[in-house]
Amino acid sequence: MFKRLYPKHFVASIYDIDLEMLKRNGVKAILTDLDNTLVAWDIADAPDELVSWLDMVNNQYGFDVIIVSNNNGDRVKKFADPLGLHYIAPARKPLPIGFKRALTEFGYHAKEVVFLGDQLFTDVLGANSVGIEVIHVQPVVKTDGVVTKFNRLMERLVFRRMKRKGIYKLTQRVKEEPETEKRQVESLRQDKQQ
Ligand SMILES: [Mg+2]
Repeated sequence: MFKRLYPKHFVASIYDIDLEMLKRNGVKAILTDLDNTLVAWDIADAPDELVSWLDMVNNQYGFDVIIVSNNNGDRVKKFADPLGLHYIAPARKPLPIGFKRALTEFGYHAKEVVFLGDQLFTDVLGANSVGIEVIHVQPVVKTDGVVTKFNRLMERLVFRRMKRKGIYKLTQRVKEEPETEKRQVESLRQDKQQ
């Protein structure tokens, strides 16, 4: 029952994704959530860092990028159009419909794509249920809508389980500030004590 909530990989941000590895594994397109995965949920336009990353993903690696978002079509269109990205919205994740539409509309098999998302109960559950591998991205910001807040609570339980089972291995290339590291070690200790 829990397995469908487990991502294949965990990264701190999209910028930590090993694109070379995806290429080697035959990935042709990147399907991705928008809010809190690519940018904070209240950010309307792509920051420069994201624009250059997308440019590298498209032009250097040749990956197609398709946004699959539960947000309304208007928000997603305004974000995606200036970047020339395809999108499916509202996708109604975790239902399979949006993922399947992305695959059929753009002509990909589930094994030829990966999904990037920040939520276990929408992104990960939905993509896994149609056989798409998921890379979990830590949410860009911690603030969220009310529904998401409840999901985050449930997610914490699943994350604890994944940590216990040794499934959770975070890829993070950016060097942490020593102080942040200390805080993380402390919170891990607290987790263990509970
Ligand atoms: Mg999201």
